[in-house]
Amino acid sequence: MDCDVVVAGAGPTGLMLACELALGGARAVVVERRREPEKHSKAMGMQGRTVELLELRGLLDRFKEGAGVLQGGNFASLGVPMRFEEFDTRHPYVLLVPQLRTEELLAERARELGVRIVRGSGVTGFAQDADGVTVETDTGLLRARYLVGCDGGGSTVRKAAGIGFTGQDPHMYALIGDMRFSGDLPRGEGLGPMRPVGLVNPAKRSWFGAFQHQPGVYRATVAWFDRPFADRRAPVTEEEMRAALVEHTGSDHGMHDVTWLSRLTDVSRLADSYRLGRVLLAGDAAHIHLPAGGQGLNLGFQDAVNLGWKLAAVVRGHGTEELLDSYGRERRPIADGVVRNTRTQAVLIDPDPRYEALRQTFRDLMALPDTNRHIAGMLSGFDVAYGGGDHPLVGRRMPDAELITADGPRRISDCFAGARGLLLLPEQGPTASPLAAWADRVDTLTVKSGGPDPDTAHLVRPDGYVAWAGEPARTEELHHAATTWFGAAA
Ligand SMILES: Cc1cc2nc3c(=O)[nH]c(=O)nc-3n(C[C@H](O)[C@H](O)[C@H](O)COP(=O)(O)OP(=O)(O)OC[C@H]3O[C@@H](n4cnc5c(N)ncnc54)[C@H](O)[C@@H]3O)c2cc1C
Repeated sequence: MDCDVVVAGAGPTGLMLACELALGGARAVVVERRREPEKHSKAMGMQGRTVELLELRGLLDRFKEGAGVLQGGNFASLGVPMRFEEFDTRHPYVLLVPQLRTEELLAERARELGVRIVRGSGVTGFAQDADGVTVETDTGLLRARYLVGCDGGGSTVRKAAGIGFTGQDPHMYALIGDMRFSGDLPRGEGLGPMRPVGLVNPAKRSWFGAFQHQPGVYRATVAWFDRPFADRRAPVTEEEMRAALVEHTGSDHGMHDVTWLSRLTDVSRLADSYRLGRVLLAGDAAHIHLPAGGQGLNLGFQDAVNLGWKLAAVVRGHGTEELLDSYGRERRPIADGVVRNTRTQAVLIDPDPRYEALRQTFRDLMALPDTNRHIAGMLSGFDVAYGGGDHPLVGRRMPDAELITADGPRRISDCFAGARGLLLLPEQGPTASPLAAWADRVDTLTVKSGGPDPDTAHLVRPDGYVAWAGEPARTEELHHAATTWFGAAA
């Protein structure tokens, strides 16, 4: 074997997955088709749960340096802020980090952890057998135990695996780009995600939106509905963008110094399965949708954090097939929910006057605390739940808290830098850890005070989700949970 896992694609998903695999003790090689990194950022924001996961891995300080903060988020540009503060979190905001910076920081981290990143080497196909996968790349063959396709929406790995990509064709078409303007830009309500600069043109069912992401440089979008592009793949010219601005806003506003132009639609698709034997999918390779609300990168990042420790455990011999299958079982419904909420947003940002009543109804609903919480929980990722159990925290993220432990004060979020499991044991529980036989995979902390419930034992997975919670005396149940998530006792 050349390595344990070949990761196809050095986007945010592939890079984060490689970091997680390395932390779990698996040897990963990332192969990337592009010779050079991308020059323009697509995503601009990290949702609250992603920020928490960065903190769990000790990466948040790097990401916060120079980053802005967006309070209240954005759902369908309805102008109703989401109340992320309702969640038990230290990070109730969106952290504004351009995707290029995210990729740079994750590549730096992957290299620190010993991951090899091979550029100019796209995956072209693969063949799998009982022992491993032979991966064909532009630069030769690689033999590995597993292959993970993190190779974006057009995923070669997904297509070669014959996994269907089921979904909906677009009805929204947009030109997007980075540029400067010498003239004034229209300011108003705006239906695009970029208030307060914006203009809605109900007669043409179109809108224009722009926001400044560097001094004087705008990310501008002109969007319209039910009038498809002549050629979805044709490069966008400056003339085409200028004509779209004039048609939909009445002026090109002195557009100049255009550095990036692209096409965007609300096409949405979800992979029929996340796994075929030794081949798995993550990130945009498994799901695509309109980037409304800023969720795609976050979804891929969280796929990586869900899959990394499981696949590493399988490679190291204590993770089961069932554990690996739990990746798709847990993550696919989450992506399905995001696909649905972005389809909803794609309807709400269609300025057809016939939808105005629908928009107003949604505004009213978003003002209600329960509805606001539902949508905020979905967009931020705070409400992600992987199954359930007797205790309300099972399957949910472990809330962060300052603990007083037998060894002094510890913050829960500081306990996961090594991507290991964690057992929080109340002081009045057994003196020896009931998971001593899992000590090579699970740390135990004896808690004197602090945390969500200091009388309850909590077993937390490496991705920060609660695997089991209950009375410390229920050792048999705890052992069962430890075996399910961490494999057989040593
Ligand atoms: C305009 C726009 C704005 C967005 N804004 C946001 C936002 O604010 N927040 C958010 O969360 N998301 C946003 N998104 C979505 C986000 O950019 C994507 O979800 C994210 O890039 C997905 O990451 P990924 O690593 O899965 O895939 P990608 O970023 O597509 O990376 C895939 C990588 O694989 C490489 N590759 C392709 N084929 C092969 C092959 N055969 N072999 C090897 N390598 C290959 C590619 O070169 C690429 O580097 C936005 C998207 C767009 C278009």
